[in-house]
Parts: sequence; structure tokens; C-alpha cells
Amino acid sequence: MTTRLTRRQLPAAAGIALSAVSALGATEKPAMLGGPKIRTAPFPAWPRFDATEETALQDVLRSGKWGRSGGQYVKRFEEAYAKLTGAKEVLAVCNGTSALTVALHALGVEPGDEVVVPPYTFIATVNAVLRQHALPVFVDSDPETFQLDARKLEAAITRDTKALVPVHLGGNVCDMDAILAIAKKRGVVVVEDACQSHLAEWRGRKVGTLGDAGCFSFQASKNLNSGEGGAVAFQNEDVRERAYAFHNSGSGTKSLGSFMYASEGSNLRLTEFQAALLLAQMTRLEQQAKLRMENGTYLASLLRQIPGLSPAGQYAGCTNNAFHLFMFRYDAAAFSGLPRAGFLKALAAEGIPASTGYTPLNTQDFLKNALASRGYLRIFGERRLKLWADQNHCPANDRLCTEAVWFTQNLMLSERSAMDQIADAIRRIQAYSGELARV
Ligand SMILES: *Cc1c(COP(=O)(O)O)cnc(C)c1O
Repeated sequence: MTTRLTRRQLPAAAGIALSAVSALGATEKPAMLGGPKIRTAPFPAWPRFDATEETALQDVLRSGKWGRSGGQYVKRFEEAYAKLTGAKEVLAVCNGTSALTVALHALGVEPGDEVVVPPYTFIATVNAVLRQHALPVFVDSDPETFQLDARKLEAAITRDTKALVPVHLGGNVCDMDAILAIAKKRGVVVVEDACQSHLAEWRGRKVGTLGDAGCFSFQASKNLNSGEGGAVAFQNEDVRERAYAFHNSGSGTKSLGSFMYASEGSNLRLTEFQAALLLAQMTRLEQQAKLRMENGTYLASLLRQIPGLSPAGQYAGCTNNAFHLFMFRYDAAAFSGLPRAGFLKALAAEGIPASTGYTPLNTQDFLKNALASRGYLRIFGERRLKLWADQNHCPANDRLCTEAVWFTQNLMLSERSAMDQIADAIRRIQAYSGELARV
């Protein structure tokens, strides 16, 4: 079937050529049913690099100063990242997990403390809490935004709560007004997990600089990438000094004499190679962030028009979304009952890769096992752990995990027409969903 355009409709259609094509294309068969594949070109590769990275890495190599001691790149990176984010102090560390560990340690989270976390996040958020032998207490998700539901936050705080760890998930931003107000009222510190949200903003301020500490990851999949790497933004010099000593095997910035230590610690240092790579990658960071924001916003506007799809919304204070992930909820009922897995398969056949994202973290066996360990039993006691298990329910998140679909950030670095292709593909799948549900 074809749709005829009248003379009057034509000029408008030419102006939005791809949308017009998509209106026609909606009736094409999906690739799964033998129709033409919508996207034949690959999506942009990640990471991106050129001679800037090669020169930087070669410079470190030839300098012979490969670790931060005696080198200049790690320090330069810390200064540049502080300037970029508006953080008072930045400490580079070896990965995002260590950034969280260092932040929790520097802010005084100890065994026996409770730390509030979301269940919709990468395991590292919870691993860092467990490394401090603190108790992770889960607050349900807001399915409208995929972020921690700040309306349910205060009920999770007890007299043993030491810290809140909101995660700005997928580049989107948590309701920081509500979170900071609750933290202030209840006297707890805030460690932002900004590992997925470089350059995202809340009311014009970069995330990671709103709480007592903000943690970033530069692992290979992240929007700023050095293979592995991390950083913590601090607003307080003393806290940064404690963090510095901890990450540097106990040696602070001020020498106490040879083999004399400021504190206990670990070795969580970033190398000069990674810092040089980060400085090179940062020459493109803002331009890439802008492109992701434009494409992500546009794609959300397209998908919102398709019945059964709910792109993650943003709180009013979110002034920039980093779109590390483009996330939406999929309602199979609007697709003739086609299960989410079948929807993803049909999308893959159109040349559009997508995934289902996280499963509920708060009910996984690794966590039950950790909390059933001898150490946890000794620190928290049977009564507290039983109460934890009784209260550990996040029903909105359980459901969110069954409905979510993700596109990765590199798709948002495409040309704008790729967003139209994604919407077209989904419309085709929807038009033939009855047939697809039967194959
Ligand atoms: C990636 C990530 C981390 C951990 O970062 P690593 O560098 O992989 O250790 C922590 N939290 C979230 C939400 C992440 O996505």
C-alpha cells in the first residue's frame, strides 16, 4: 500500500523528507518478515581517536614517566577536569569503582554504617558499599525517569545511615533538589555516582559537583574513556587530602618523612598514559555531549508519539542529559503482545542494536551471600539483617526491569536521520506486530 501526497502536502514533506518517508515506510514489512532492512550502515564506532591520542601516548612513553609520581599528565587532567565540571577539587583514580570506594572512605563511611542506593544501577555502586562493610539499603526506582525515586528516599534513612549514593543513571539526572534537602535535614553525606553522566547538569551545574563527592568512570563504554579510569570531584580540600592519601598507599601530598604514612590506604592511582588519553579525548567531549543531547531529545520526541513506548523523562531541574544510554519502557500490549525479546530481535534485524538493561540488583544471590557472610553477621547482627531482608522490596523497579529497552551512547553520535530510522523501524515492527508475535 502507498500513501499519496497531494500537491499541497509535498513542500512540507520535502522539508522533513525523512519523516515523510517514514510515514510511507510504516507500511513496509519489517526485515524479520522479509522487508528491506532499514539501517544498513553501521552506527558510529566507540571509542573515537586520531593523531591527538597517538601524540599524547607517545609523549608519555618517551618521557619515561609512566606513573603519576614525577609525571605531569595526571595532575594536568585533574586540573582540566575540575575546570570543566566546576568542581573545587578533583582526584584521578584507577576506575569508577575505586572512585566510589575512595569517596565513601574519605567521607567516613565505616563498617556498621548504612548507605542508601538505587536498585537500578551497575553492580559497582553496591560493590563499593560492600567494600566498606556498610549495609546497602535500596530505594525503589521512579519508572518515569529510571532514577531513584526521591519521594521514597526519606523512609529508608535510619539513625545508622551515613551516606546517600544517588546514581545519575544513563546520563539522566536524579531529583537533586529533593535529595540534597533530605540529606541536609537528616545529616547524611551525598556521594553522587556520576559514572554514566559526564557533563550532565542540574540547574546549570554539572553533576558530580552537587553533593559532598561525585564519582566518575572512564571505563571503555563510558562517554569519556581511557580504557579504565576514574575520578572523584570534591568540594572540600581536607576530604580530598584524605582521599589522596588513601588512593596513594597512605602517603598524603605533604611528606611526613620517608616511609611515614598519613593513613592506611590502597594503591588506586591512575597512570600517566590514561591521563594523557583522557586529555586528548576531552578535546571532543563537549561537542559529543551536545550531539548526544540533540539526538537523544529528538529521538525521545519521536518515540513518545508511538503508542506503548515511554522514553525516560527528565526532572524539571535537569538542564542537560548526557544520554550515556537512551532508555525507554516497552509495553508489549501495544505491540500485539510481542514480548520484549521479540521486539529486540526485530530491531536487530533492522540493523538497530538494543538491549534489555539491568535486572533487579537488590534481589540477586551475590548480595544475599555477602550479607549472610560471617563478617556481615558479626557487624550488623541477625536482627538488623532480617529487618533488611523484610524491607528489601522495590516493586516499581522489578517491573521497570521487565519493560526497559536501551540504546547505547554511540547511537546518539549518529547523524540525525539515524533517529528517524530508529523510529521508522519501530513503527514497522508495531504495524506488523501481530504477525511478528506469531513467528
Ligand atoms: C561504570 C559504572 C561504575 C563503575 O565504574 P568502573 O570504572 O567500571 O569501575 C559505577 N557506577 C555506575 C553507575 C557505572 O555505570
